[in-house]
Amino acid sequence: MRFVDEFRAADVIGKATEEIRRLADPQRHYRFMEVCGGHTHAIYRFGLKDLLPPNIELVHGPGCPVCVLPMGRIDDGLSMAEDPNVIFTAFGDMMRVPGAHGSPLEHKARGMDVRIVYSPADALKLAQKNPGKHVMFFAIGFETTAPSTALTLMRAKKEGVANFSIFCNHVTIIPAIRAILDSPDMRIDAFIGPGHVSTVIGCRPYAWIAANEGKPIVVSGFEPVDVLQSIVMLLAQLGNAEAKVENQYKRVVPWEGNRAALKAIGEVFELRPYFEWRGMGFISQSALRIRDSYGQWDAEQRFHVPGVRITDPKSAQCGEVLKGVLKPAQCKLFGKECTPERPVGALMVSSEGSCAAYYNYEHRKAAAFTTIGAKA
Ligand code: SF4
Repeated sequence: MRFVDEFRAADVIGKATEEIRRLADPQRHYRFMEVCGGHTHAIYRFGLKDLLPPNIELVHGPGCPVCVLPMGRIDDGLSMAEDPNVIFTAFGDMMRVPGAHGSPLEHKARGMDVRIVYSPADALKLAQKNPGKHVMFFAIGFETTAPSTALTLMRAKKEGVANFSIFCNHVTIIPAIRAILDSPDMRIDAFIGPGHVSTVIGCRPYAWIAANEGKPIVVSGFEPVDVLQSIVMLLAQLGNAEAKVENQYKRVVPWEGNRAALKAIGEVFELRPYFEWRGMGFISQSALRIRDSYGQWDAEQRFHVPGVRITDPKSAQCGEVLKGVLKPAQCKLFGKECTPERPVGALMVSSEGSCAAYYNYEHRKAAAFTTIGAKA
């Protein structure tokens, strides 16, 4: 297969669906976690859940970096930009994420200099064009985006750009999976492994999930055929009482990962002893911080960071949804107080957030059917 249409072809989807029905034991209930928010989005966008037998349950994982960031980190980042000399920059999907005193966009409406950039390199360019200002980039993401932050810092150092810094919120996927497996309220049979992160880290770091935990994991692409083929591969492993790491996304993910990207991460970052994740608490060695050799460009060293710890509103159940304990629609606020237009939690904001994906595809579809039914 070479073109995207081939990964959406009805006949191939039909064959994969048939294979899933053939392999799934009707006496058994399967719980497969898709770790990555991109998979959650694809599952709802393409209606893949409706193609599966009812005894295959897809559980949404913590692989949306905007969603797992605790609210206090957003407030910490915004507090740095209270200095009128600072330009706050971030990716577009950060802009509507609520902090305790509003989102970056709401702060912009109140006069803060907040700007959307498409990459950390754009933020660096902005700093070079505005030598009288300080440009702070709110860096976020798993190992997927950490290399571009690292390369930007290496460039800032090489070119001696002094009015630029990074507020580092990069997290790492493996400790989050470990925390899920250690969670007493979780029962997962197998994992649909994250495709984007794996382009950088490769497949090897997942070996312990199969070897020590006895859980199959298949690194998967994001098209309908990819996700369905990955489910076929997981069912085949479970049917043979096997647990191994497989790579369905070979066209993009090298088994050993991207050595140049890993080298850049290692040059600029080191592991934090611990980091707070929304709904999951503090997880040891689960995030990156900037090495002292790049400390001049570390916003946490240049600015006072209040270290705000804000708990989500009591009725918001983002933590349970992030851990896969609840489905988005089971949150008390879903579709009422919390909608994409008026989000309470980040899961309703990010394009990879499970609440936003569920609302935009499942909820709107159900609402449309209700309207059609009422008119008929
Ligand atoms: S519906 Fe809103 S409050 Fe509830 S889990 Fe989703 S984002 Fe959080």
